[in-house]
Amino acid sequence: MSETAGQSLTDGELSMLNEIASVATLDIELRDALQRITDILRARLQWEFVACLSVDYENNRVVWAALSSDMTTEFRVGDSKSLDSDPVASAVQAGTPVLLDDTTIGDDRTIQTPDHLASHPGQAVIQSKPGRPPAGIVPGMASELCIPIKHAGRVTALIHLGSKHRSGFSEKLPLLTTVANQVAGTIASAQRYEELHRWATLTEMMSQLSRLAMEATELEELLERIVQYIAGKFPIDIASILLLDEGGCKFILEAYSGSLELRMPDGDEWPISVGVCGRCVRTEQPQLVLDPAADPDYVPGNDAIQSEYIVPIRYRDRVLGVLNLESAAKDTFTPYVQTVFRSLAHQVAGAVNLSSVNQRLQAAIDELERLSAMDGLTGVANRRRFDEVLNVEWRRAYRSDRPISAMLADVDFFKALNDTYGHQYGDDCLRQIAKALSSGLRRVSDFIARYGGEEFAVILPETSAENALAHADRLRHAIEALRIPHRRSTVSSYVTISIGVATVHPRQVEQSDLLIQSADIALYQAKRAGRNRVVGRTLP
Ligand code: GH3
Ligand code: MG
Ligand code: MG
Repeated sequence: MSETAGQSLTDGELSMLNEIASVATLDIELRDALQRITDILRARLQWEFVACLSVDYENNRVVWAALSSDMTTEFRVGDSKSLDSDPVASAVQAGTPVLLDDTTIGDDRTIQTPDHLASHPGQAVIQSKPGRPPAGIVPGMASELCIPIKHAGRVTALIHLGSKHRSGFSEKLPLLTTVANQVAGTIASAQRYEELHRWATLTEMMSQLSRLAMEATELEELLERIVQYIAGKFPIDIASILLLDEGGCKFILEAYSGSLELRMPDGDEWPISVGVCGRCVRTEQPQLVLDPAADPDYVPGNDAIQSEYIVPIRYRDRVLGVLNLESAAKDTFTPYVQTVFRSLAHQVAGAVNLSSVNQRLQAAIDELERLSAMDGLTGVANRRRFDEVLNVEWRRAYRSDRPISAMLADVDFFKALNDTYGHQYGDDCLRQIAKALSSGLRRVSDFIARYGGEEFAVILPETSAENALAHADRLRHAIEALRIPHRRSTVSSYVTISIGVATVHPRQVEQSDLLIQSADIALYQAKRAGRNRVVGRTLP
């Protein structure tokens, strides 16, 4: 014999308690555990109806979590009923066991109100309706007992028993209270297990997202992948990421995925003064909307939407935007799901920040590249870049067995120009010449660079000698047409250039120097012949 709540237990009852206790240590789902417990109760104590119900406060209902009965009842595991004025409701409200000792007699005892029940804690309350038999839940039962199971001070579940006999539970209340405590323990450990499982799932989701973040090269692509991932993984009908513009006053829709269409409040302009998304940015807090129609800030976008959760995407102290999730169901955003989305928003923030750091870095690298390839005075490519391009084009010409032409253009009497008008004037002249030569190029593959002091070089891929000469002469004309005064020139009143043109049909892959050497010889010849002219040389 053992003692429970002041009463002695039989060996059979004790072994039943041990059996129930052992269920809690099994690594099984909560529902299976509860089913085993109801089976044990039914087998050991021979009541006709044993059920375990969980309480759904949000919807004011109870759900049958486990059932053990050989009667044909209308109840099925998973069914639910609303919490109204029956013994189950009373037990939930009062937090004390509720006993219907005899449902076959009608008596004049009144229904115990929750207030009354609350003021008599710990005692079984006999409940009946005046003038008719007390309302049991299970038809055909002469007595019923509901024992609340509490977790963290709140009734989270109940054991519901039915017996065909009147007073079927006499003196079993202390034993059953012990069972209820055991079940409470089982539920608590199952919840802890579930929690653990959920965190494991969450961790996995985060690592999947991190992988996505690594794989995507562009921020837009990454954000697109994230919303698709969310829409695929959760019962979310619209998942979108809205980032703030540079000034932080407007949303820009970056990515969107879902089965429903997302409508922006006013075309593409979405100031942060508008909408629940705006409120999220202004308050910097997640916004849960369970009744969009009743929310003054909600911008009606899609009538099917029943709930919305918006999380700020924040990096350090700065809100970068929002993760906007909308669902056609009311109950999507459970506390757990909210936690998941807050974690997701962290991931997005990291990705956005990383991307903007990368972007800035890339911009700096690009600028450096551009600068190192560009001539500072004239803005055209520099000699270094010219050598690279020449090499590439030479090889291409060699491979495709096509001719390649080049020009070397040199300003005539430039030293005298500097001496007469000043260095500044000379610089300005070089800028104008570079501009005119650049705009004189015809094909995208034609390339110009400042080759040195007052010399420019041009590459004309796949261009015959004849065409190159014609092109060079047009350029020479174009410079003369600039009419930059040069009173010390002996060939014109204006600045002129001489151009040496060379055309080569590459026979060897490593001989790109040949082209420039040849153009240089031609240029020398043009100078010798009087300047302001074009001389061409063709190598076989
Ligand atoms: P030619 O007709 O034979 O080409 O005679 P030139 O005077 O043009 O040739 P020379 O090589 O004797 O002089 C080139 C001058 O160009 C010398 C140099 O001071 C000037 N120069 C080189 N680079 C720059 C520059 O960036 N700005 C200015 N203003 N002058 C430059
Ligand atoms: Mg020169
Ligand atoms: Mg010169």
